[in-house]
Amino acid sequence: MNDYDAVVIGAGNAGLTAAATLQRAGIRTLLVERHNVPGGCATSFRRGRFEFEVALHQLSGLGVEGQAFSLRALFEGLGVADELEFVQEHDLYRAVVPGVVDVTLPADWSGAADALEAAFPGNRSRVERFFQLIRDVTFWQIAAMRGLPAEQIDPVLFQQGLRSLKDVLDDHFDDEGLKCALGTYWCYVGQPPSRLRFQDLALTLFAYLEFKPWHVRGGSQAMSTAILGSFLKAGGEARFNTAVERILTRRGKVVGVRLDDGQEVSAGDVVSNASLPLTYGMLDAGTVPAAVRDDLATRRIGVSGFVLHMGLDATPAELGFTTSTTFVNVDTDDDRTFASMRSLEPARGICVSSYDIAPIGFAPTGATHVSLMTLQYADAWDKVAPADYARTKFAYAETLLDLVEHIAPGIRDAIEEVDVATPLTMARYLGHPGGAIYGYDQDATESWLFRNSERQTHVPGLHLAGSWAGIGGFQPTLEAGTRVARRLLRSKAA
Ligand SMILES: Cc1cc2nc3c(=O)[nH]c(=O)nc-3n(C[C@H](O)[C@H](O)[C@H](O)COP(=O)(O)OP(=O)(O)OC[C@H]3O[C@@H](n4cnc5c(N)ncnc54)[C@H](O)[C@@H]3O)c2cc1C
Repeated sequence: MNDYDAVVIGAGNAGLTAAATLQRAGIRTLLVERHNVPGGCATSFRRGRFEFEVALHQLSGLGVEGQAFSLRALFEGLGVADELEFVQEHDLYRAVVPGVVDVTLPADWSGAADALEAAFPGNRSRVERFFQLIRDVTFWQIAAMRGLPAEQIDPVLFQQGLRSLKDVLDDHFDDEGLKCALGTYWCYVGQPPSRLRFQDLALTLFAYLEFKPWHVRGGSQAMSTAILGSFLKAGGEARFNTAVERILTRRGKVVGVRLDDGQEVSAGDVVSNASLPLTYGMLDAGTVPAAVRDDLATRRIGVSGFVLHMGLDATPAELGFTTSTTFVNVDTDDDRTFASMRSLEPARGICVSSYDIAPIGFAPTGATHVSLMTLQYADAWDKVAPADYARTKFAYAETLLDLVEHIAPGIRDAIEEVDVATPLTMARYLGHPGGAIYGYDQDATESWLFRNSERQTHVPGLHLAGSWAGIGGFQPTLEAGTRVARRLLRSKAA
């Protein structure tokens, strides 16, 4: 008899939901995580009297009372819904390009249209047409993802879905500021409007406008800890500070794993939440099918991030924050901003999260927890000499502070605690190549239409769950783990 029925490698969102789903269905599961806490990206850490959220800016997928969406059912299914307190953000975001754009969009369709009309008069009917297109493309995209035959899908999906966001925005609007304000969520996918498929932006905007953006009280760590609790309560076993080093196979089929302390654990199924390069690299070279090698060779390691976590000795109002989420860009040239993500030139765009507008409970009374984030590839950081690293990262951090000064002048004077994470920090904590936070570059070639790593590992007993095998982000990875576990359970029952 095997030591376990299944081993899950990695306790990120997808690893946690996969492990909990399996164990709760009676599959004896070992969860192995190289870090000392559960969550992967979905964690927090303490500095002084502050706790800092690592990754979550806006949680999608919860929905509101009377219109619950998929994550509520997922948390209920894992028995953790009552342990978690969700905090709703009422604004979608504030978009700022100094001297060009300053508009706050409420998180509802008509409020957002009103705000855009007030900021860019004369565009209301165009905005409404654009919003209708978002709803139509998203509706039919979801139907297609759920397997509706192509002949029953409305042609709008095929005509508009794979066009670039830039082309669709250009069709609707003349004002560059308005296009920038509507397209600013591109950084949540990591591809600029000229490379981003319209259907991806449509899905993102739809998710937040229809089902609202949320935070979790206690941060994403509270969510990760609750899901781990569900797994342990069901009898699962977890090992932290332990990495899986090899995935063991016999006659091409998975038979277990070897841990970094040399211990071999037998199991008929392995679910990997680690990156694809690492996962396939843990197999004997001869076991990796040519189809997989060819596929991996065509993919591009995705973007990482540079984050400034700050504990500020002032309230959000004193600092000038009016919304939880603000995007500040130096100009509307998103292609230039995207190109700059491979260099150390001053940050050209930041996402500002003010976690005490809708308080998540981390900052002491009278203080505020704020993070500034810009996307960056690891390339530029790989070239920094170790002796120059600290100086370089603090100098780069100053450029993010320069940008946030546009909406919170004098913020530097209120800094009490600060911590800086570069793409190398992400790589170290996650173990992912390039410190990539959404897996592979989420460009058109990664669409669910063209690839399905999650369904086809080509190695019996190996299952992939998480950002590298599908779509990055919180909602997609939480759902991926559950989906992969359910598929595994169905295959056992068959
Ligand atoms: C700073 C930042 C901001 C972000 N902002 C947002 C946001 O606002 N909204 C959003 O939706 N998404 C956001 N993301 C992205 C999102 O957090 C991730 O896409 C998602 O959490 C990835 O989940 P995952 O299941 O793929 O696992 P990951 O979080 O990537 O975790 C993988 C886990 O596997 C472990 N592991 C790897 N190798 C091994 C091994 N050999 N043995 C054992 N364990 C191993 C790692 O230690 C890690 O814990 C952000 C990410 C970051 C870092």
